[in-house]
Amino acid sequence: MKHTDQFLLAGVIGFPIMHSRSPMMHNYWLEKNHLVGRYLPLAIRPEHLEGALRGLRPLGFSGVNVTIPHKQACIPFLDELSPSALAMGAVSCIHARDDGSLYGTNNDAFGFIRNLKASNPHWRADAGPITVIGAGGGSRAVCYGLIQEGAQEIRLVNRNMEKAQALASSLGPQIKVLPWGQLNESLSGVKTLVNATSLGMVGQPPLQIDLSDLDRDALVTDIIYIPLETELIKAAKARGHVVTNGLGMLLHQGPLAWKLWFGIEPEVTDELRALLEKSIES
Ligand code: NAP
Repeated sequence: MKHTDQFLLAGVIGFPIMHSRSPMMHNYWLEKNHLVGRYLPLAIRPEHLEGALRGLRPLGFSGVNVTIPHKQACIPFLDELSPSALAMGAVSCIHARDDGSLYGTNNDAFGFIRNLKASNPHWRADAGPITVIGAGGGSRAVCYGLIQEGAQEIRLVNRNMEKAQALASSLGPQIKVLPWGQLNESLSGVKTLVNATSLGMVGQPPLQIDLSDLDRDALVTDIIYIPLETELIKAAKARGHVVTNGLGMLLHQGPLAWKLWFGIEPEVTDELRALLEKSIES
């Protein structure tokens, strides 16, 4: 698709939004692809969500990414949902189509899986049991992605058991819910460990976990990327595990949004990753 006579517009809607690293990433791609346009952080209060979405196409936006607190709330205002958004019950990306309709999809699971494969090309979801900690929005994408990749057994550990049970019943029988008290025991024989709670994120307490029962060849990932190295990632690194943080999940869902909006799949380069890492570290 050629965009020579058009000022391209896209953005991310959330509230608050100024912490988001998405504008840095998407504006980097606009520049690298020699496109004229801007990707904007759009602070949309919940009571203005419908009006903001209805205004996207008239204002010339190709679409937006969606973050907290709008991932579920936006659904009633969309005309069509992708299978991934339907299954996860959440939208991470909206395309404002030329015919005026709004299409919602969810690229978080794709970003999560692509990041794991980039960290370890031999990684397989069906290599053995997987422990996923947390049952919020991030975990929903993680579990959906793992099941799509062929995971046979996901041990889902969450403080709020009811929430975990609701996630398991909506996504599949591969998910077995375990109480928070069995976190350490859940690691026995596990080949992939995922932290999808907010524990370890800047401003939050660290995740308290004992990795002694984890196989040395297990891959350990934290979907948090602020900080870049959580206590979990540090502890796993010290034991010699292959580790990866959540920055790759953010980076790898971006190209899918671009394909929808602009018909181009930009590249996740080392230069882009370094740019975001520098911004997070500072
Ligand atoms: P969320 O929907 O609010 O879920 C938070 C999760 O953390 C829940 O499972 C919650 O357990 C758990 N939790 C919070 N405080 C806890 C505590 N003190 N003890 C035990 N469990 C606790 O949040 P989310 O959207 O899933 O985000 C979670 C993290 O993932 C955030 O740091 C977010 O930035 C990150 N994330 C990253 C990406 C990425 O692209 N890399 C994408 C999405 C999210 P309860 O259910 O018991 O409350």
